[in-house]
Amino acid sequence: MTKRIYDTDSHKTEFEALIKSCEKADNRYRIILDETAFFPEGGGQGCDKGRLNGIEVEDVQEEGLEVIHYTKSPVEEGQRVCGVIDWDNRLRCIQHHSGEHIISGLIHEKFGYDNIGFHLGDEVTMDFNGTFTREELDELEDEANRIIAENVKVNIKYPSPEELKNMQYRSKLDLEDNVRIVEFEGYDVCACCAPHVNYSGEIGLVKIIASESYKGGTRLYLLAGLDALNNYRSLQTNNDSTVALLSAKPDETAKAVKKLKDDYEAMRLEKDELFGELINYKLMNIKEGQRNIVFFEPLFNNISLRKLINKAMEKCEGIAAGFIGNEEKGYSYIMGSKQLDLKEKAAEINDRLKGKGGGNKTMIQGSVKASKEEIIAYFKSL
Ligand SMILES: [Zn+2]
Repeated sequence: MTKRIYDTDSHKTEFEALIKSCEKADNRYRIILDETAFFPEGGGQGCDKGRLNGIEVEDVQEEGLEVIHYTKSPVEEGQRVCGVIDWDNRLRCIQHHSGEHIISGLIHEKFGYDNIGFHLGDEVTMDFNGTFTREELDELEDEANRIIAENVKVNIKYPSPEELKNMQYRSKLDLEDNVRIVEFEGYDVCACCAPHVNYSGEIGLVKIIASESYKGGTRLYLLAGLDALNNYRSLQTNNDSTVALLSAKPDETAKAVKKLKDDYEAMRLEKDELFGELINYKLMNIKEGQRNIVFFEPLFNNISLRKLINKAMEKCEGIAAGFIGNEEKGYSYIMGSKQLDLKEKAAEINDRLKGKGGGNKTMIQGSVKASKEEIIAYFKSL
């Protein structure tokens, strides 16, 4: 059985241990030590990162009573090894996991809901069998951060089965033997096998950044400690850019964006009206009974071009054809006709104008590679 240093000392980052075995397994080595500070993956939390004799530990897994360390290079069985834990990663884990205990404890006490899931990876999520309003979550955050500021002691206990029977504690599993209890003095008692902070103040800060419905309950997204600071920093950087772009006050960017959106919508409506006017002027210049009409409209988009063609085809006896684009990139087209069957004519048009496209009897659209001159000449010949 591997002795687990983190069970009683979550802040020990360097240790020495005896190498009990080192076996090759596929392209990695499985190393078992007599004791380790490496926390193996488990309970929704990823494993510790770090090194053994300078060799990177890629994974740490629990197998029965042993902790298995996986590395790319071997170490010598029977020798002693020097292990070093990546403290930044450990700190991130204990800040979030301890933060989760405080919040889950508060939720259990206030609402009677249980924590039914926990994941500590790149994202940290905790699931509860109940729902909350944002106001309730804000209150929970306030209270959790007050407990953090109180800097309460965290005790790790291994009560006897007798003591356990008389103990009130939160637990996901029905365990009886060798139960490890993590206690935030005066606030929460919970069965847990993971390393935790020694005092609640080490958590620094907790923030619930999002919540969503999950399996009839709620999933909360948690940030603690330095991750919460980094998140604040990134939101601030983003907000600073918005402040500069909109010349807005830092706490009024949403108001400024709303105004911008309203202005944009008003301009879009104005543009539609102006295009409507422009289309009317263009139609005024068309002589009644004209055979084919060709428009080159670089300022139009598909929607305005379709409006133009829809109206122009009423005034001509052949085809009303509109083109947007340019000589270099090619033109896209919309064509309409009251008299001709464009579905039938499409093959010839595409063939003569080096294009592709199709549609129905009265309207086709597509693109061509022909030059403006060639397009005009083609419609004159029709
Ligand atoms: Zn836990």
